[in-house]
Amino acid sequence: MLATAPPRLRLGVGRRTRIVATIGPASSSPEQLAALVDAGMDVARLGFAHGSPEDHLACVRRVRHAAERAGRVVGVLADLPGPKVRAGAFVRPVTLVEGGALRLVAGDLPSHERTVAVDYPDLLADIEAGDRVALGDGAVVLRVEEIRADSAMTVVVNGGALQGRPGVHLPSGRLGVSAPTAADLVLLEGCLAAGVDMVAISFVRRGSDVARLRAAAQAVVGDDADLPLLVAKIETPVAIEHLDEIVEEADAVMVARGDLGTECPLEDVPHLQKRIVRACMLRARPVITATQMLESMTHSATPTRAEASDVANAVLDGTDAVMLSGETAVGHDPAGAVRTMARIAERAEREADDLHWAHLLDERAGSGITEAITHAAWRAARDTGATAILCCTWSGNTVRALSRFRPTAHLVGLSPNPCTVRRLALCWGAEAMALGEHTSAEAMVDAAVDAARDAGYVAAGDVAVVLAGGPHQRDSVTDVLRLVHVH
Ligand code: PEP
Repeated sequence: MLATAPPRLRLGVGRRTRIVATIGPASSSPEQLAALVDAGMDVARLGFAHGSPEDHLACVRRVRHAAERAGRVVGVLADLPGPKVRAGAFVRPVTLVEGGALRLVAGDLPSHERTVAVDYPDLLADIEAGDRVALGDGAVVLRVEEIRADSAMTVVVNGGALQGRPGVHLPSGRLGVSAPTAADLVLLEGCLAAGVDMVAISFVRRGSDVARLRAAAQAVVGDDADLPLLVAKIETPVAIEHLDEIVEEADAVMVARGDLGTECPLEDVPHLQKRIVRACMLRARPVITATQMLESMTHSATPTRAEASDVANAVLDGTDAVMLSGETAVGHDPAGAVRTMARIAERAEREADDLHWAHLLDERAGSGITEAITHAAWRAARDTGATAILCCTWSGNTVRALSRFRPTAHLVGLSPNPCTVRRLALCWGAEAMALGEHTSAEAMVDAAVDAARDAGYVAAGDVAVVLAGGPHQRDSVTDVLRLVHVH
């Protein structure tokens, strides 16, 4: 059942940056999911690199249920592991100290203090003495000393704590696996059957990696309108080299700073983040800034001042969404982390320059009909002081193209497609609602204004800017722009 926006007072537009929360043992029960939804989670991320696929897929239903009960639109993002190499699960959390010896073995085995198993069969062939191997997004760094017949002997260069199944960074240029892996494609089928709204692909290197995932999804789903959004995770120097083609091919992007900060010099990460966000803005692809945003809240009641600044700066950079990982998956107060993030994001939005992106896009919005009409709608809303921009959309593309201008008016996406409504949960500022199918653009405009008035986005006396297309929305482009005096 589709959630519709509850009636609300017209007291400003509320938080516009989206919050993605990773679901894990600390947050997967119905009660905890309800608390996350109430706290402001817009998208629930299921990380298939951890836990069992069955548990994740069962969680999709629980997220839907929690969202429905709260009358909120919440998307589900399935994050496929990709060719990420991981350590076998640690039997218990360990702390490795600098200078200590550690043995690496290949295989799907448990890890412990002295020996770490690595789920990459060619481990001993693909590493050499002198290589650096990072574990857990760089929490621990090892130097390879010697390759033996059955193991690699290493020394701990940077000590730290490890638990669960941390990622293992081997020199990526030598790894012989690419995304999506055969295992990803099997998981994809389960995700499509469960009706997830977005699928993230890890360790993409080229646009063609995303195209392969899309072709695999199309073969299962058939109708493009039912495809989940494909989110490309940017986490290696190779992906940065091919950033434009990846952004072009993907529907959305994640700045996966954990792996990015291990694969690239750490000091480059803030600048790569800005570059990726800008590339996404130019092509109207929603972008998620991810990892360690409020890391200390995994254990503490408040974030560090640096973390609060990180979230605020991501908002000022122009990100659509900010993401919580361990904070909500294994943290002591997942809902508290979401509330804190919501507060910081909302405050930062008040400082953002409303015209920054519109000025940039003035020259570079693109020359298609969607680009031109969304630019005109943003401008008309600004000139008339419109209360809301109402976008009737089949795929959600018009809403995403409009969102990048960062309008100050309410941005409401109305769609007859329930999948589109949920996919808009990742798009900055978009309030998504259901709209019935209509036989003319005129009828669609009237229905959109009625729905927005009932939901409290506009009231009598307001101006609403409305975008609509022909009645056969699946094929038609949005080409009608109306300025309506609401009665
Ligand atoms: C990251 O590396 O920042 C990331 C989000 O990827 P994952 O947590 O899936 O390794």
